[in-house]
Amino acid sequence: MTAADARRAPRTRSKGTESELAKKRRARKADRLLAAAHPDAKCELDYTNPLELAVATILSAQCTDVRVNLTTPALFKRYRSASDYAEANPEDVEAIIRPTGFYRNKAKSIIGLGKALVEHHDGRLPEDMEALVKLPGIGRKTANVIRGNAFGVPGITVDTHMIRITNRLGLVDGKDPVKLEFQLQKLVEPREWTMFSHRIIFHGRRVCIARKPACGACTLASICPSYGEGPTDPAEAAKLLKGDNVEELIRLAGIEDAVNR
Ligand code: SF4
Repeated sequence: MTAADARRAPRTRSKGTESELAKKRRARKADRLLAAAHPDAKCELDYTNPLELAVATILSAQCTDVRVNLTTPALFKRYRSASDYAEANPEDVEAIIRPTGFYRNKAKSIIGLGKALVEHHDGRLPEDMEALVKLPGIGRKTANVIRGNAFGVPGITVDTHMIRITNRLGLVDGKDPVKLEFQLQKLVEPREWTMFSHRIIFHGRRVCIARKPACGACTLASICPSYGEGPTDPAEAAKLLKGDNVEELIRLAGIEDAVNR
């Protein structure tokens, strides 16, 4: 083990042996470190109101946010209200949203959403979790995205990045999204829930990548029991970093010298 490795090696107990208080402290420290590493973390879908965010989130299933954002301007221009969607011709909607994939099912969900909103909610998107999850195309994950970003109600979004990274960090155990959401609610400060979700997603895209996490260039290394799941050599790990703030990530991880050697 090199001196740099020794400095960065985790001081965290192995998974399953940590007290709840220690885990809570570590979760909050992780959130602070992530806030410094990803100050630009935010919802990457373009929208101007709750309905647009709900539609964009439905379209984002199995599709990148970039592609959704290329598709939604034409959709939002043509369909401006819940009743516009309720009365839409499925083939017209399908033609616009086709690039996002699974377009028949997505069109069905969006039109169904419009109809349900007109029928039960005066054409407006409800804020309430129970009401949201009864709407076509909207599960807990989408409901948390809508509540957190369009209504300012804190919510933890459990997607594939959240499942992978919180398990690697040993903050949760398992893959059931609803159980994880409740486990994480106990660890992270409520006012941070929405931003914690964005930060974890950014970390998952840029550093703690699914196949090969950049452990040697990760600012969470000292508090992560999975440190070593990816390369720990700083120069090798730095090559895995993605996104437009790679230099800052290297600086925050304290590995500039090793990378520039
Ligand atoms: S990149 Fe490595 S050290 Fe960082 S959170 Fe992921 S598994 Fe842990």
